[in-house]
Amino acid sequence: MPLPKTGFSKTMIIVSIAMTVWLLESTAYATEESNNPFLIEMIRYSQDLEQRILEQGRPLTVMESMLAEQADVRHPELVRVLVLPSVPEPKSAVLREKLQQLGILRLIARAKGSAKGYGIVLTTSGAKSPGVIAHELVHVGQYERFDGIEGLMRYHLPDLEANGYRDSELEGEAYRRALEIISNARM
Ligand SMILES: [Zn+2]
Repeated sequence: MPLPKTGFSKTMIIVSIAMTVWLLESTAYATEESNNPFLIEMIRYSQDLEQRILEQGRPLTVMESMLAEQADVRHPELVRVLVLPSVPEPKSAVLREKLQQLGILRLIARAKGSAKGYGIVLTTSGAKSPGVIAHELVHVGQYERFDGIEGLMRYHLPDLEANGYRDSELEGEAYRRALEIISNARM
C-alpha cells in the first residue's frame, strides 16, 4: 500500500513549523532572562548567603522548631540560623543600585533578619524576637513552595518591582502570618 505522501509531508511541514516557533519562543524567553541582571544578581546574592548560613549556622532551637511548624515549614530540620551584627548587604553594584531605586537597600541595612532558602540570618536583637523569627520562617515555607531561591525570585521580583517591598504578596503574607503565629502562641 503506497503511503499518502502528500499528507505525510504536510504533517512534517506543520511539525517543523511548530518546532521552529517553539524554538524561537524559548530562545526569546531565555534572552529576556539573561538580560535581567536584577534577577540573576539577586539569585546569586541569595544563594551565596544561603550557602554561608548553611555552613556556619546552627539548627533551630526547640522553640524555633515549634514556630517553624506553625509557619508550615515542611523541613524544619534543614533550616540553619546564623546570628550576625547585621544582614550582609549585596556587593554587586548593579544589584545595590536596583535595590536602592526600590528603597530596599536601606531596609536591608536596618533589618533584624532575612531568609534565603533554608538559611536565616538574624541580628542579635532579631534572635531574641519570636515575631522576627516567625516572619523569617514564613519566608522559609515560601521558598519551599517555590522549590527554592530561583523559583521564588522569578515570582517575587516582578511583584517587588511593581508593588514595592511592603505591598508585595510574599512580604504581606510573612507579616500577616507571623502576627497570627505570635498571637496564637500567647494564648
Ligand atoms: Zn520579610
